[in-house]
Amino acid sequence: MNHAATATPLRGLRARPFRCPGCGPSLLLRLGGDEMRVRCLRCRGTPVHLSLLAALAAHVGRLAALDACELSTTGALLRHLRRRCRSVATSEYLEGITPGGHRNGIRCEDVQRLSYADASFDLCTSTEVFEHVPDDRAGLRELHRVLRPGGWLLFTVPLSDLPATRERARRHGPRIEHLLPPAYHGDRLNGPGSVLVYRDYGRDIVERVRAAGFDQAALWTPRRDFHGHRRAVVVARRG
Ligand SMILES: [Zn+2]
Repeated sequence: MNHAATATPLRGLRARPFRCPGCGPSLLLRLGGDEMRVRCLRCRGTPVHLSLLAALAAHVGRLAALDACELSTTGALLRHLRRRCRSVATSEYLEGITPGGHRNGIRCEDVQRLSYADASFDLCTSTEVFEHVPDDRAGLRELHRVLRPGGWLLFTVPLSDLPATRERARRHGPRIEHLLPPAYHGDRLNGPGSVLVYRDYGRDIVERVRAAGFDQAALWTPRRDFHGHRRAVVVARRG
């Protein structure tokens, strides 16, 4: 038996007890250096989801009376919302499907033109969505519209240290104008390297959120990291 070969995948494997902001006492696993390879043993939350769950606990608190809207159909954050909120609307952006329509039981929504009625929700969440939205200002205005007064918006995007957001691409109808070399992220439905990044967000993201009508908007970061990873979460509230 070749012991060297079996030992290699375990190099860098670490686990430490931690209090998961989603599911309570657990172990934080590190299966590799990449952010996606750090997970809560119980709820499988990644540092992105764990950061958002920590922001939720710090700002929103009790979820039992809230109607929530999450812009995905999977993941530890959604499972958490499903267990605790009064209701959770879920959706994905599906090319070629009218907002409000379904494919394989999954509801399609385009955050730039949501099919939900005004003031439908108390809480809207998303993780790693807005960098892929051609007109993110329209998307933020739509989330403001579907939130009730006093409603919360919490989301993450990859954030750079740039003071100002840098546009990478612009959409003109069906045509895409590339201002910088195209960059792509993967997603669960379309596979790795499939989704265009429209912009690199800078610290001015909170001004963009305020410009969409939100009264309060701030960046909030968990005090403790998750095996070296943590995310700033945009926390905004409709007045
Ligand atoms: Zn957990």
